[in-house]
Amino acid sequence: MNLTINTERLMRELHHLASLTNCPPTSDASLPVPTQAVTRIVFTARDLEARAWLKGLADEAGFTVREDAIGNTFIRWHGSDATLCAVGTGSHTDAIPHAGMYDGTVGVLGGLEAMRALKESGFQPTRSLELLMFTSEEPTRFGIGCLGSRLLGSVLDPESADALLDRLPETDSNALEGLTLQQVREAADFNGSLASVALPKDYYSAWVELHIEQGPLLEREGIDLGIVTGIAAPASYRYTIEGFGGHAGALLMPDRRDALCAAAEMILSVERHARAANAAAGGVDAVATVGMVNVHPGAVNSVPSRVNLPLDIRDTDVDRRNSVMTAFHADIVAIERARQVRVTEELINADAPARSDKRIVEALEKICETENIRYKKMVSRAYHDSSFMAAIAPIAMVFIPCRNGVSHRPDEYSTPESIALGTRVLALAMAKLSSE
Ligand SMILES: [Zn+2]
Repeated sequence: MNLTINTERLMRELHHLASLTNCPPTSDASLPVPTQAVTRIVFTARDLEARAWLKGLADEAGFTVREDAIGNTFIRWHGSDATLCAVGTGSHTDAIPHAGMYDGTVGVLGGLEAMRALKESGFQPTRSLELLMFTSEEPTRFGIGCLGSRLLGSVLDPESADALLDRLPETDSNALEGLTLQQVREAADFNGSLASVALPKDYYSAWVELHIEQGPLLEREGIDLGIVTGIAAPASYRYTIEGFGGHAGALLMPDRRDALCAAAEMILSVERHARAANAAAGGVDAVATVGMVNVHPGAVNSVPSRVNLPLDIRDTDVDRRNSVMTAFHADIVAIERARQVRVTEELINADAPARSDKRIVEALEKICETENIRYKKMVSRAYHDSSFMAAIAPIAMVFIPCRNGVSHRPDEYSTPESIALGTRVLALAMAKLSSE
């Protein structure tokens, strides 16, 4: 097969997609031109614009497009044997506020380029090849990541999904009065029951996602490509800490039940336990993060009476993740008692780690060996849509290096050479898996 990845076309498309952003052009001189800060939140006008553009590209390439009730977009190249289940690839195009232009998009536009390049080389797939653009991999708007892939993999109950509240930054302070996912998606013209989104277990014979590493290892070790053997398991919680508020001058220290001081102790506690778990294991896999704090009433001269905070905790080992939570829970009880506050915990999700399929990993290794590509097998510490595709399909992922391991920032960067190489390996893998 004479396969040529059109790097110039792929990079032009990545830059065009980056221009569909709600971030104004950056004036940050420290950023390499033409890096663009990208904000593209699901079902906003920019997201819908990006979707329409992507569907146009698929049309142009002669692929068939279908969308489901949550807006997952399927771009299919029909194989010669329609009775066989398809080989899938894909990722996401939504972006958190002030993010970079490569997270997710490399897997979507790289997947499209892989299919186009195969087509242009004269290849004819036996199994259909399908590119999937997932809705809302990022949790920005509805508070839960991988919304589209969770529904595809039947990992999320359709009814509770539809009831999720819109947490767009503008509406966050009164989220209870916000719209539901059902209202938001229907306004964006994605109708029908979410129960119809789930895919059967024999829909894909194999699934491969191309993604930037979002960590520094490949670049640091001078390796071209990562083959993901497993994906760390994330869990997220929401906490409400209720104390007693009052006037910053009049409420004396002995009488205080400051909710924010209690929250501060909780944040340090979970950090301490994650570090301790790593130290005990001689590893680095446990990570715990509190990335937001909501303080009520939020005035300089008022003692905080209520605090809301989320917790994101991940590990490649679900037992170790649970042990960090057990230690944290014991601290919460102690903090409640010592500070006379009440802490309530809401579990948002606690996902299982995903394991890559041995057959797909071996196929990827063989391609790297044939193509003289330096690769390493590695775990993914970030979760991806593939985590949930693993519930219904044999999966694997391909990572390409990104500069300094930076992601979710405007200065996120991968070289065109890395992007083209990852796309080439993806194309060769899809071709091989299509005939298996
Ligand atoms: Zn991503």
